[in-house]
Amino acid sequence: MRQIITRFAPSPTGHLHLGHAMAAIKAFDRAREQGGRFLLRMEDIDVGRTRAEFEAAIFADLEWLGLSWETPVRRQSEHMSDYKKALTKLDEMGLLYPCFCTRKEIIAEIEQSQTAPHLTNTDKDGGLGGHLYPGTCRHLDTSEVEDKKDENIPYALRLNMEKALEMPLVWPLVWKDENKGEIVARPEIFGDVVLARKDIPTSYHLAVTLDDHLQGVTLVSRGEDLFSSTHLHRLLQALLGLDTPDYDHHQLLKNEDGTRLSKRERSMTLKSLRRSGHQPSDIRKLVDIHHMY
Ligand code: GLU
Repeated sequence: MRQIITRFAPSPTGHLHLGHAMAAIKAFDRAREQGGRFLLRMEDIDVGRTRAEFEAAIFADLEWLGLSWETPVRRQSEHMSDYKKALTKLDEMGLLYPCFCTRKEIIAEIEQSQTAPHLTNTDKDGGLGGHLYPGTCRHLDTSEVEDKKDENIPYALRLNMEKALEMPLVWPLVWKDENKGEIVARPEIFGDVVLARKDIPTSYHLAVTLDDHLQGVTLVSRGEDLFSSTHLHRLLQALLGLDTPDYDHHQLLKNEDGTRLSKRERSMTLKSLRRSGHQPSDIRKLVDIHHMY
């Protein structure tokens, strides 16, 4: 049997809260119980929102919780060349195109066209209110692209989903989900998704998928809010020839009124829980109560 490798992959853009503690503890315990390895990865591609003090606080919180991880810790910002290589590969397969649209233009286009397809996942739609990108820039010809590049109009790189779905891959693409069993991936729910942002030459989807492969992760344990993203990650794995780990999309911790805990919920940060006298064992108990596992 292959050795289990799990990971916790926070973005150092805020303090960890109870929900993060649950994800980290779950991944850590699974590796420890099965004699495997637990990795920590800093998902810090969003340079504008990343802060060194948040990274330091993440280390401190996890140590306080009694978790230990392998060093060196992978920081995504230090591996931009890996993402570039993957983008080059997709580009050579004819699956990428530059998109010069602003969000405002995309929304205007969606509003004009009654027929713009709806997205069934809404978590990472780039703020399009549940709509798919209408494909405006997919139809630009080479000279239009060159002109826009000459004018220094910033552009993102989008995946041509229709073409990607026509690639000779082993269809259907599936993954093993610990809670839901075998899932057939439906990447089409993302439409022409952005794989390299205008401001950052990669994206969450590309970086996370590539890193899990490069780090040999065998079990991705993360919140169920990222379940729909896995439909796309499975496609990227197939296109780029990457391994497919198993997935455990666990329930999210909720506030008492049933709303999701978020980084804005100051009172639930590990830092504030620690300050108010909670012990790591209390956090484990809270995590257990919220989520029977
Ligand atoms: N970095 C992501 C977050 O903090 C988690 C990514 C993942 O676990 O796949 O929300």
